[in-house]
Amino acid sequence: MQKLSLYIFLLLLPLLGFSQEKNTVIKNIQKEAYENSQLEILGHELMDDIGPRLVGTPQMQQAHDWAVAKYKSWGISAENQQWGEWKGWERGITHIDMVSPRVQSLKGTQLAWSPGTSSKGVTAELIVLPEIKDSISFRKWLPTVKGKFVMVAMKQPTGRPDDNWKEWATPESFEKMKTEREEMTKAWNENIKRSGYDRRSIIPALEEAGAVGIVDSYWSKAFGANKIFGARTKKIPTVDIQLEDYGMLYRMVEHGDKPKIHVVAESKDLGVVPAFNTIAEIKGTEKPEEYVILSAHFDSWDGGTGATDNGTGTLVMMEAMRILKKVYPNPKRTILVGHWGSEEQGLNGSSSFVADHPEIVNNIQAVFNQDNGTGRVKSINGAGFLQSYDYISRWLRAVPDTIRKNIETTFPGWPASGGSDNASFVAAGAPAFSLSSLSWDYWNYTWHTNLDTYDKIVFDDVQSNVILTAIMTYMASEDDSKTSREQVILPIDDKTGERQTWPTPRVPQRKGGM
Ligand SMILES: [Zn+2]
Repeated sequence: MQKLSLYIFLLLLPLLGFSQEKNTVIKNIQKEAYENSQLEILGHELMDDIGPRLVGTPQMQQAHDWAVAKYKSWGISAENQQWGEWKGWERGITHIDMVSPRVQSLKGTQLAWSPGTSSKGVTAELIVLPEIKDSISFRKWLPTVKGKFVMVAMKQPTGRPDDNWKEWATPESFEKMKTEREEMTKAWNENIKRSGYDRRSIIPALEEAGAVGIVDSYWSKAFGANKIFGARTKKIPTVDIQLEDYGMLYRMVEHGDKPKIHVVAESKDLGVVPAFNTIAEIKGTEKPEEYVILSAHFDSWDGGTGATDNGTGTLVMMEAMRILKKVYPNPKRTILVGHWGSEEQGLNGSSSFVADHPEIVNNIQAVFNQDNGTGRVKSINGAGFLQSYDYISRWLRAVPDTIRKNIETTFPGWPASGGSDNASFVAAGAPAFSLSSLSWDYWNYTWHTNLDTYDKIVFDDVQSNVILTAIMTYMASEDDSKTSREQVILPIDDKTGERQTWPTPRVPQRKGGM
């Protein structure tokens, strides 16, 4: 640097608000993130080796223990804190084959918590729901399910996603397909309603009537993608078969081909097991009683390996912690990370933490939560905190322009009432913000689907989120003042005519799945 420009630079420094020391830490965060990234190995160990992290499974426990060990290896103190208990269950082998009128192996899997079959499995004919006139005729039909697998999802008119239709179909045939699909869906729902049951309550009725298994198909509106949630049966297996194979079987039943399938769905009921959050922290030196919290739920559904929901959020927070410990080992405020359990069943881990730790929650400087996929952060909203503009903007100014320029901010924003764990903190009045990602087709392709796997991770974007999170955390920790919690006055609700109120803390489910 020339002497004159150095002089001007030094003059400008106080204006920028960053000291030389701050600039060094910010530079070191980026250097460590780019030159010594641990993201790929962490991603491999978590997604490939441990696998999906359904609450109550041995894999969830393994993940908690793995995270504690990782933190300890980085010199960060960590522990698993029990917040409740859950039905213990372990997924075993699922194999689904059509065995008649010809043989074809089918793509599908048992739903979470499905009762298992023996290792020999069950072979039976498939049956679809009839046209139902009323509940009396349905009850008369019910005994026909005895000894059969019952298909309980509508046959989709197309396995192509809408954007594929939009690109290739004539506008007329695209419209025609959508109208057809709407009418089919409406007719399907009304048919079930006439049975006296709904989509959910019809399942136990079929089970009681002697069905040997339930065959579902929850298409996620994308090629090859089905959403995999929990079973509603108590004794018989529930499997989800992907759209392509499900549609084939359905057509075969409709045409009188009497297809038979062989299902092996092994699983283990493990009774009741404890449920945890993994908590790690780097103690503050000046204001140890004040907290900056990194937040990402640790659990997942188990159709895939939970790579984008929420493996990537988990990686961001772990890697940010690792880097901060290395380049900023003596933070002004305490930096705590929460890897929450059972977010997917209703934010249970994080809301338990909020309920159990008022001494922390009342002293939160900021919470940064990430939970919507692998994409780089594209928006941050002020969560309804009136002064959030002041501090969030100040912290963001320290983030390199290449990352910051993609981020849209909204102030004062609105308080999250659900969706992810930041809501648990917001409800308690703590400034908690969602680092909201670009979609990368999250909602249809990976969110809660069989396709939520390692190959969908976009590591460049995850790395950019690590740098953002680490710098925001550093800035929040170093800030001269404690953040304001002043809340906006919420607008009148158009529907009720009443003023909207700040979300209230939810009561966590401490014992679930039983
Ligand atoms: Zn999630």
